Amino acid sequence: RAAAGPAYLSGLNPEQRDAVETLDGPVLVLAGAGTGKTRVLTTRIAHILSTGRARPAEILSVTFTNKAAREMKLRLGQMLGQAVEGMPWLGTFHSIGGRILRYHAELVQLTSNFTVLDTDDQIRLLKQLLAADNIDDKRWPARMLAGLIDGWKNRGLTPSQVPAGEAAMFGNGRGGKLYAQYQERLKILNAADFGDLLLENIRLFREHPDVLRQYQNRFKFILVDEYQDTNVAQYLWLRLLSQTPSSPSPILRDAALRAAPQDEGADDEGSASTDPVPHPEERGQSPRVSKGEAGTPTPSGPPKNICCVGDDDQSIYGWRGAEVDNILRFDHDFPGAKVIRLERNYRSTGHILAAASHLIAHNEGRLGKTLRTEDVDGEMVTVTGAWDSEEEARAIGEEIEQLQRQGHALNEIAILVRASFQMREFEDRFVTLGLPYRVIGGPRFYERAEIRDALAYLRVINSPADDLAFERIVNVPKRGLGDATVQMLHDHARKRRMPLFEAARMVIDTDELKPKARSSLRGLIENFERWQVQRDALAHTELAEIVLDESGYTEMWQKDRSADAAGRLENLKELVRSMEEFENLQGFLEHISLVMDRDGGADEDAVSVMTLHSAKGLEFETVFLPGWEEGLFPHQRALDEQGRAGLEEERRLAHVGITRARKRAKLYFATNRRIHGTWNTTIPSRFLDELPAANVEITESKGGSGWGGMSGYGPSRFDNVESFGSSYSTPGWQRAQAQRGRSGGGSNGGRSGGFGESGASYSSGSARRAPFTI
Ligand code: ATP
Ligand code: MG
Repeated sequence: RAAAGPAYLSGLNPEQRDAVETLDGPVLVLAGAGTGKTRVLTTRIAHILSTGRARPAEILSVTFTNKAAREMKLRLGQMLGQAVEGMPWLGTFHSIGGRILRYHAELVQLTSNFTVLDTDDQIRLLKQLLAADNIDDKRWPARMLAGLIDGWKNRGLTPSQVPAGEAAMFGNGRGGKLYAQYQERLKILNAADFGDLLLENIRLFREHPDVLRQYQNRFKFILVDEYQDTNVAQYLWLRLLSQTPSSPSPILRDAALRAAPQDEGADDEGSASTDPVPHPEERGQSPRVSKGEAGTPTPSGPPKNICCVGDDDQSIYGWRGAEVDNILRFDHDFPGAKVIRLERNYRSTGHILAAASHLIAHNEGRLGKTLRTEDVDGEMVTVTGAWDSEEEARAIGEEIEQLQRQGHALNEIAILVRASFQMREFEDRFVTLGLPYRVIGGPRFYERAEIRDALAYLRVINSPADDLAFERIVNVPKRGLGDATVQMLHDHARKRRMPLFEAARMVIDTDELKPKARSSLRGLIENFERWQVQRDALAHTELAEIVLDESGYTEMWQKDRSADAAGRLENLKELVRSMEEFENLQGFLEHISLVMDRDGGADEDAVSVMTLHSAKGLEFETVFLPGWEEGLFPHQRALDEQGRAGLEEERRLAHVGITRARKRAKLYFATNRRIHGTWNTTIPSRFLDELPAANVEITESKGGSGWGGMSGYGPSRFDNVESFGSSYSTPGWQRAQAQRGRSGGGSNGGRSGGFGESGASYSSGSARRAPFTI
């Protein structure tokens, strides 16, 4: 039977084929990286379409990024031998949620042309609300509230559902009320923020069962990729859509009612009583109640055809509210679910798979799985130490040029970083080398909003006539110089044919501006005049630090509680660091304009640079993984804020990184790195220690100044591992060095799982075809 059937089925292994052909009822594919989960989903769509079980418009298919959706459409076309017409419901949660919301906008007090607000608009709106409520924006920054509201929306909480304790976290107990006011204001403005695209969609479904039923009827098949990273809101939305269309029986309604929250301020929709899906946070302390118990009404009718695929070992968005529990609870949520495990990895060679499997086995909270490859062992995973991040970038640049000379396509090469600030060094290096690159999943380093803002300040200092730069930052951070003021400055400037900055200087001596705006503008102009003087007296890096500080720009991000604020602050530090490589401000700004100018076309053969987070689901022949140092990876913030759970999420991220590689995984660490503005002697990441020696080769940085090449340097550093103030105290790495006859030495820590101990478990010969149960 294996050989029979359409071409798109051939080549699938029996388990994959089972997952594709089991069209009826809920299916969960729980399997490791590279086992073909995404391929199964795509093939499943092809199968549904070609067997006529549904039309394109009847399939709901959720991917994690827009790029993944495009990719899936492309593959689908290849499988079916013709471009797929339609598939209007293939996209991300947000794009599909937004689409549904537009069709029924009036039911949630919007009109179909509603605006989707960006973060800036969101902050502006919240500031107005804070002002109206006489809440001190200094003590209770709008950005903090925005972060809280985002978090609540990710958890599917409407204002009345926010637990009292959390609502109290802002503005002396006014957080919940402000959230409610914010939602009201959005309606008046005919606007939705990003989180609303799902949350308002959920509200729509709950308040209008007829609309929900319409979609339940429409979607004959639901498919979800990367299910391990769905958050509560996404989960609720899926649960609603995946119920068989039928009203809940009175008994179920009763059960749901009993499970409703004892929420004092429940002036909400009062919809809990008919709610077919209780909120996960309402399930009480034991979410894993058995089937049919009160609070978890099971839908009547045959189960829906829903297929989710995921890997608990690749859950990396916990910090953004993703709940890996969703995948672990699948067969409870969808009774009768068929759980399929795929065990053959088709992506990576033996050494790569062994290294990744061994690493992730250090996590405790996991289901565990068996993975094997029938591929050759291939090249060992390499670990290279470089003196500092600059040398790291240079060494990787050289390796890439060498691969290029050997005929490897740049498209098949990726650099995956832990934090976006790390990209800067590579981008600069690639510009110098003339090596085409593209940044995926975000802007290039110098194009990031915070970097552009900072650069705008420096540009105005360098050239006060730079109107574009001046306009960019005149009101960033907000200082009461709104559009009207800027318009007035423009009028002035045009009339007198002078730059905006000059016009501003004149205007502050007139009474054309209201006193408040005038004094604010005067403050700014005086700042710039002082900085211009300092420019000649101070080092340009020092100047940059002063400017970011005195302008209030750094402070603006320090107060920001959104998920990416800390990353932005790191980027600003990295910007200042990057200036060190130039003699003066002028030279630096010229370099920037060069970097900004080059613009890789979409189909150009280019190296991909991205964060580990945005690399999920992708694969490349060669993957470079720089920055494997304690504090950076695992990231200190994750350890500080989430302890053990944070460490495990970082380890999953490391696992995601290595498993992106098909043929070559090349890890790097720098022995010196500047983090938060100061040089640190770093400690190689504990994750390096956790790699199996048999699959890893330690190489020297080509630059020759890495630790490997500097005899005498290594021992002194590793001797004093404890003295670096980190809790990390296991010089397993050092053991590895000693074993390999390098300049290791020093005291041995007692931790298990390091290089030494693990060495025997895998010989490179036996790695092949031997499945690892991990
Ligand atoms: P991840 O967890 O990283 O998202 P995945 O499980 O989604 O991985 P895919 O990306 O679907 O894995 O597949 C990994 C690679 O293996 C792809 O190049 C895919 O084309 C290939 N592959 C999957 N199944 C087969 C098969 N049966 N025969 C040959 N190649 C396969
Ligand atoms: Mg995938």
